[in-house]
Amino acid sequence: MAVLWLDEIGADDLESVGGKAASLGELTAAGLPVPPGFVVTAGTYRRFIEETGIDEELFEAVDVDAEDSKALAEAESRAKELILETDLPEGLREEMLGTYAEIGDGEAFVAVRSSATAEDLPDASFAGQQETFLNVTADDLVDRIKRCWASLFTQRATYYRQEQGFAHDKVDIAVVVQQMVAAEKSGVMFTSHPSTGEPKIIIEAAWGLGEGVVSGSVTPDNYVIDRTTGEVTDVEVADKKTMYDKDAETGETGERPVPEEKRTEQVLSEAEIDRLCELGEEVEDHYDTPQDVEWAIFEGEVYMLQSRPITTISEGEGSAATADGSGTAVEEGGEALLSGLGASPGIASGAVRTVDKLDQLDKVGEGDIIVTEMTTPDMVPAMKRAAGIITDEGGMTSHAAIVARELGAPAVVGTGTGSEVLEDDQVVTIDGDKGTIREGRQAEEETEPVEEAKPKTPVKPMTATEVKVNVSIPEAAERAAATGADGVGLLRIEHMILSTNKTPTRYIEDHGERAYIEEIIDGVRTVADEFYPRPVRTRTLDSPTDEFRQLEGGDDEPVEHNPMLGYRGIRRSLDTPGVFKHELEAFRQLFEMGYDNVEIMFPLVNDAEDVMRAKALMEEVGIDPQKRRWGVMIETPAAALGVEEMAQQGIDFASFGTNDLTQYTLAVDRNNENVADRFDELHPSVLELISQTIETCREYGVDTSICGQAGSKPRMVRHLVNEGATSISANIDAVRDVQHEVKRIEQKLILDSVR
Ligand code: PEP
Ligand code: MG
Repeated sequence: MAVLWLDEIGADDLESVGGKAASLGELTAAGLPVPPGFVVTAGTYRRFIEETGIDEELFEAVDVDAEDSKALAEAESRAKELILETDLPEGLREEMLGTYAEIGDGEAFVAVRSSATAEDLPDASFAGQQETFLNVTADDLVDRIKRCWASLFTQRATYYRQEQGFAHDKVDIAVVVQQMVAAEKSGVMFTSHPSTGEPKIIIEAAWGLGEGVVSGSVTPDNYVIDRTTGEVTDVEVADKKTMYDKDAETGETGERPVPEEKRTEQVLSEAEIDRLCELGEEVEDHYDTPQDVEWAIFEGEVYMLQSRPITTISEGEGSAATADGSGTAVEEGGEALLSGLGASPGIASGAVRTVDKLDQLDKVGEGDIIVTEMTTPDMVPAMKRAAGIITDEGGMTSHAAIVARELGAPAVVGTGTGSEVLEDDQVVTIDGDKGTIREGRQAEEETEPVEEAKPKTPVKPMTATEVKVNVSIPEAAERAAATGADGVGLLRIEHMILSTNKTPTRYIEDHGERAYIEEIIDGVRTVADEFYPRPVRTRTLDSPTDEFRQLEGGDDEPVEHNPMLGYRGIRRSLDTPGVFKHELEAFRQLFEMGYDNVEIMFPLVNDAEDVMRAKALMEEVGIDPQKRRWGVMIETPAAALGVEEMAQQGIDFASFGTNDLTQYTLAVDRNNENVADRFDELHPSVLELISQTIETCREYGVDTSICGQAGSKPRMVRHLVNEGATSISANIDAVRDVQHEVKRIEQKLILDSVR
């Protein structure tokens, strides 16, 4: 038989039908609702090349020098030409089309996908043999099947086979032809928690086809279901701006805006959630291991499109506090007094201490809750004593949010009126996940399990994409290093300076240049020691003038109408080279002391001119840019679009500062709560700038990374791993989840390419 129906095959047929088809066959046989389809077996491909006699010429054409890219390209096009232009043996076309005619009404749209066979697994995982053709009908079915066959000889596939010493003539390929589900809703489902393995089903759902959810470009709703009780414990309805569907006229699948009225509508009904959970239980039972399922809903029916094991669950982990908001015990504490943004996870209870002036900081004792309009760097010692932090102002990237996360102190920011509504000595409980503040103290036993469950020595999955950590206060270095991160992706030095409560100029006036340089060396060294030999990417000063104005010497700072667009980052450094050179001198001395793990990063550059000037100053103080690793932050659209010229200046890395990149791409002040709902790091334009930058950097061998807050968000992580970023830097509390998420996506990329 040239073709086999999916319900005729199973795991034992891996060799002849490939991984993807075997898995679909398994699901079909288990009675799960899989769209109907068939597989063109690997033997059929073999029969095609042998019976038509093209095999010899084909294998000769692809036997080329793997290092010769021109020869590889020619091999690919010759193989494709041979396969596409050679007619199928007698009867084969009729058998394929005849089988297709039995699907649906005989005019069904089908998806045609390659399904790599077992022998090819080791190299196929990298070889890009993952041809997928959507919306195929009888007219182009045979051509698409042949194109899947030809995908055996893409340049990458040939290269890897040559490199690995695999013979081209021993590799076969099967092709799956399956009815397409014109999904009205779709998404993914984890049958157990993907990091901790807890008995929770997690469903992500969006409008239209699943491409957007899987690739991370669409923000889906998130549902958490407790498997032991069947109860839906958490629903987060996202603002779903875009969706994928098929254009009625062209038949092309593409991204489109979601109609206004559906943007914030909940995607799944209760009945649909129940049905998905039922299927989740069945599929996990069937495989006897937690599964990551792709599903779709069409005309009320739930279909399963794919299922693969979740490989990221850490052995022996209990119920840790998780990013899906599972630490829910505080819910029982009654109505929330106030709410804001959950900026640093965890739950803390304590007595309120409202502070607005420096001299009030002494009143904050161990275990108190600081309540303030906005924290400032000089509050850090008091923040360390506090059990939790509440602010009136600020977003997820504000000083309070960043420092609280690094200290591991739960925080709720942007409450609007916290410092007016709450009174000294009032006892409250804050929930840094949910962003709520409740009256009274939470019972001990309710808080403890959450804290205790945090693993002391995290199980770190091996990932190809490095996962690093952001550090802003040197005191957090030990905690940061204990996450097992692959280095520091962003060390902000402004906190080292601002914590002196003096502007750089005032500090130098009062204490001298030497002391200023020492201040920087001490801070960076604390972190570099803790991480050695892991790299510590240290950023030169980047404080807006409004932050400086609060410090001693701040009166001399310019008053700016919009500090975010003003005198900060590299533009200020280049304008005041005297002060900037002290920072560079600190780096030079660190290198001299042997801290070869320190890297230099320049903030807010716009173009190659900025880079050239910064590089010249490095050289002036005696740092050899050829010997040290240095790079830039990509924080403006100009920088993203001009990265090629910067690469030509010799940068080693480019790191996305998405807090600023989002602010400048969308014209949304990151500190302005009136437009906070428009601050969207996953906006298609931001993602596009990121994708383009990664592509250009790859051509120049420049590493890419992210160090903005969005690096801690699963959907941004997905986008970056899919696009091939070199590393991701996350907040301390998010490192573990990001490590697991990266592992999961990498695993999926590999599995997808072999199925
Ligand atoms: C950013 O802009 O994303 C970034 C990491 O820098 P900062 O938040 O310090 O401006
Ligand atoms: Mg920035």
